[in-house]
Amino acid sequence: MTTQKTVIPITELEQSAFCQTEGNLRTKTLEEEFRAGVRWQKVPTRYLKLSVAELDRGIAEARTALGKTTIVLGHHYQREDIIKYADFRGDSYKLSKMAAQTRDARVIVFCGVHFMAETADILAGPDQTVILPNMAAGCSMADMARTDDAEDCWSDLASVLGGAPGEIIPVTYMNSTAAIKALCGRNGGLVCTSSNAAEAFKWAFARGRRILFLPDQHLGRNTGFQMGIPLDEMVLWSPFRPMGGLTPDQIRKAKVILWQGHCSVHTRFTVEQINLAREQNPGVSVLVHPECTLDVIRAADLNGSTEFIAKTIGAAPAGSVWAVGTEINLVNRLAHEYPDKKIFCLDPIVCPCATMYRIHPAYLLWVLEGLMTGLVINRVHVSEPVRGQALLALERMLEVGG
Ligand code: SF4
Repeated sequence: MTTQKTVIPITELEQSAFCQTEGNLRTKTLEEEFRAGVRWQKVPTRYLKLSVAELDRGIAEARTALGKTTIVLGHHYQREDIIKYADFRGDSYKLSKMAAQTRDARVIVFCGVHFMAETADILAGPDQTVILPNMAAGCSMADMARTDDAEDCWSDLASVLGGAPGEIIPVTYMNSTAAIKALCGRNGGLVCTSSNAAEAFKWAFARGRRILFLPDQHLGRNTGFQMGIPLDEMVLWSPFRPMGGLTPDQIRKAKVILWQGHCSVHTRFTVEQINLAREQNPGVSVLVHPECTLDVIRAADLNGSTEFIAKTIGAAPAGSVWAVGTEINLVNRLAHEYPDKKIFCLDPIVCPCATMYRIHPAYLLWVLEGLMTGLVINRVHVSEPVRGQALLALERMLEVGG
C-alpha cells in the first residue's frame, strides 16, 4: 500500500511572517523586510537600501515617464504604500474586468497575487502585457489545489459517477491557478467570485446534479448552506487521501464536493472574537468575508466580498460601529477613510496577507524602471490551450454576472 505525504504549501507555512501585536505596518527598506521569514524574489541590490521617500520619488518619476502606456492596479489588500500608486483599486474580479476594459494601456502592472495577474493576462488583449512586481507573491489558498491533484480528483469522480454529462459540474473560485480554471472550462464548468458564488451554483445546478467546488471549502460550504443545501450533502474532498477520503456512496449522495482548501488569513477569525467584540462594543455590527468558517458566518451580522465590505461600510451612518473580519490593510484603510465611524478588525493580532505583503514598493520601482529601458520584468503569461479553456470558464462567470 502506498501512502501519500501531506503537502502543505510553503506560502501557507509563511503566512504569519508579518503578524505583529503592536499594529505597526509601516513600510521599511526592502533589506529590513527581507528579515521576515518568507521567500522573496531576488532584486538588484540597489533596490534593497532605498528609503520609502526615495522609492516614492523614483516611482513618481517612472509613472510620469511611462505615461498612459502603463497602468497600475492595486488589490484592496495591498499595503498603503502600494495602493497610493494605483490607478485603480478593487477586488480581483473588479480589477480583472478593469484590465480587460483598459485597452489603451500596453502594460498592466498588477499589484496583487499571481492568480490575479494570470486572470488579467487571460482577459487582456493580445497586445497587452501583464506584470507581477514580485513573482513570490502567490496565494496559499490557490497553492492548495495543485493541477495534478485536481486532475486526479476529476478522473476519480468520473470513475464513480460515470462520464455522463450533467453528473457533476466543476466550479472554481477566482482564487485558483489558470490550470484549475481551464479544468473547469473544458469540463462544462465556470469560475465564480465571492460576489457571485450563489449565482454560479444556480448556473451549475441548472446543468448538473452536483458540484465540485475548488479550492476554498469555506466559500463553497457557506454558499451551499445559505442556499439551503444540508450540511450532510456537502462533503470534503481531501487531496491527500485515496478517492478524497470518501466512499462511492458518499460521492453519489453529495450535492457539493468541497475541495479541502482554505484562506490562511480569513480562517484566523473566530466566534470568540465576535463574542468579545459584541461584549466590548454594544451595538456593533459584525461584517465578515465568506472565506471565513461557517460558524463565524453564522455568528456575524453580515458577510460578503471585499467590495461588499467596502460599500457597506461606506454607506453606513456616521457613529456606527463595525467589527470586520477581513484582511487588515483593507480594514485599516476603511478606518482611515471613515473617521466618523468606528471600524476595527476582529483579530487583535495585526496579520496581513503575507503573499500580498510581498509587493514592496521597491519591486514596483524595479519593474517600472525596467519598462523605462524597454525591459519587461516578471511578465505573467498564460499560454494555450490553458488560456482558451480558462477564458471559457471566465466568460461563463461574466455571463452569470453578480
Ligand atoms: S487573503 Fe487569502 S485568498 Fe486572498 S491572496 Fe491572501 S491567502 Fe490568498
